[in-house]
Amino acid sequence: MNLAIRTFLIASIFAQCSHAQTSGSATPAGPETSAAAPAAVPEPAADGYTVFNATPEQEEALRAQIRLMHPDVLPLRVFFVPHWRYLAAARDFHLHVPTGYGSMMFTHLPSRTTFIDSDRYMGTDWLGHWMAHELGHLASNSTKEGDAEKLAREYRKRLKESLLAKSH
Ligand SMILES: [Zn+2]
Repeated sequence: MNLAIRTFLIASIFAQCSHAQTSGSATPAGPETSAAAPAAVPEPAADGYTVFNATPEQEEALRAQIRLMHPDVLPLRVFFVPHWRYLAAARDFHLHVPTGYGSMMFTHLPSRTTFIDSDRYMGTDWLGHWMAHELGHLASNSTKEGDAEKLAREYRKRLKESLLAKSH
């Protein structure tokens, strides 16, 4: 089913991947040079990463949360995808998607690509909670849930504290 679309998705990810490799270092500090930005990118990657297929509200919330969590490693791209495509992407990356834990998002570490199952999207709190987990995978460069959660707890704390500070 929809093999062409899947092939296109994966091909475009890896095409951008090889482009991204040249920027090498994982430090999120310096602004990324956009000299060779591919034409297909929908939004200028102001924060150094690109968000695909999100609603404007989702993208705004995601970018604000990631800024507040101040992660050690940023994703390069975040895809909001319908459930069928999420499963297809997981299969193509040979990832086992468990039915319970962590089945709403996953991150392909070598390409620093995060997939979010948009059919399971449950609002900005949900988004921040699970994105913290994915940022934990990225920062630890580990596929282990325990490693991801250890960092995720710190990111959630930062997010909560800055939201509290704002409301006072
Ligand atoms: Zn995980």
